[in-house]
Amino acid sequence: MKPQECVDVLTNAWDTRLVNENNKRGSWTPKNVYASRVSDCIWQMVLDMVKSDSKPPFGAMSLNRMLFGREVEDFFLRELARAGKEFTPSFELVNQQERVVIKDRKGRVIITGKKDVAVRFEGMKATPPAEVKFGQAVSRIEHADDFKGGRWTKHMPRQLLSYMYAKNEPLGFMFLPKIGGFLPIPFLLEDHLEEMELALANATAAMDLKEEIEANGGTLSTIEPNQIPYCADRTYCPPCDYFNTLCFPPMDYGEGADVLGEEVSDALEIMHINKAARKAYNHAEKVYKSKVKGIPLAMAGRFLVTGKWAKGWENCQEKSHKTRLEQGSWRTKWECVEEPETEESAT
Ligand code: SF4
Repeated sequence: MKPQECVDVLTNAWDTRLVNENNKRGSWTPKNVYASRVSDCIWQMVLDMVKSDSKPPFGAMSLNRMLFGREVEDFFLRELARAGKEFTPSFELVNQQERVVIKDRKGRVIITGKKDVAVRFEGMKATPPAEVKFGQAVSRIEHADDFKGGRWTKHMPRQLLSYMYAKNEPLGFMFLPKIGGFLPIPFLLEDHLEEMELALANATAAMDLKEEIEANGGTLSTIEPNQIPYCADRTYCPPCDYFNTLCFPPMDYGEGADVLGEEVSDALEIMHINKAARKAYNHAEKVYKSKVKGIPLAMAGRFLVTGKWAKGWENCQEKSHKTRLEQGSWRTKWECVEEPETEESAT
């Protein structure tokens, strides 16, 4: 086989296995709102409960992301539990995957979920719940407020807040295991009561509509179009599983706009998440290049910097750069001496 054929075999085998394993698991329809799906859109929560079998199956990219998320979570919680035993004051991880239920005033179950874990600190009565989140979406999150800024992170705290509310725990944590270290972000329920109340009201409204649809034989057509509680923020819609399949919210795109699929929206998400990082990188690179020109060997913190004149000056036409023209351009290389990471650039 040619190298590219080998590459195709490897990647196709991986993707096919992910899809097949997922197909084996099958699908099911939730009876109430899942804590992980408490949404800004009431109609989305309704569709989850009455039409989730009509959702398009997950693509290989999404399944890959989920697999990594699960594996990292297992590994991380195992290691954190060990760390807790060895440290003073000690802590234990308890109630892993405990089922949590929230009922409304009528005693009807409206939200259920399984919390990742809770923490029992030595000498502390409360056992704050914690949710583990890993991946690109949370890579730039550093504070509780940062979750609000992203399409994919906005809803995450609601899951944790639901568990805190259900168990009357005033404190909870988002656990973010990152490549650079472990970041636990504390959440106080009292700081998020308004958001929690809105989540409960939306979940209750979704349950009411679900029951109405079921009472009418399960067909969506029993709900008048003007009764459908579409999401107020329509930027939420294009990546939604139901968009233009089961749900057709009035959108104002202008004429002739195409609707692109998950692959493009995933790519754009990555670009969006890394946009600020790229800007910061470019700025830092400018500073770095302006300071290291002509320096053959240097240390800067934990970085080793090397440089040399190299050919490649033929495009430079300016007379004032005579010396540079003779010597070529300055090529620098930096290397983090604590991490296996290398970048090369030419000034
Ligand atoms: S497409 Fe928009 S309005 Fe429809 S369910 Fe999804 S988020 Fe809600």
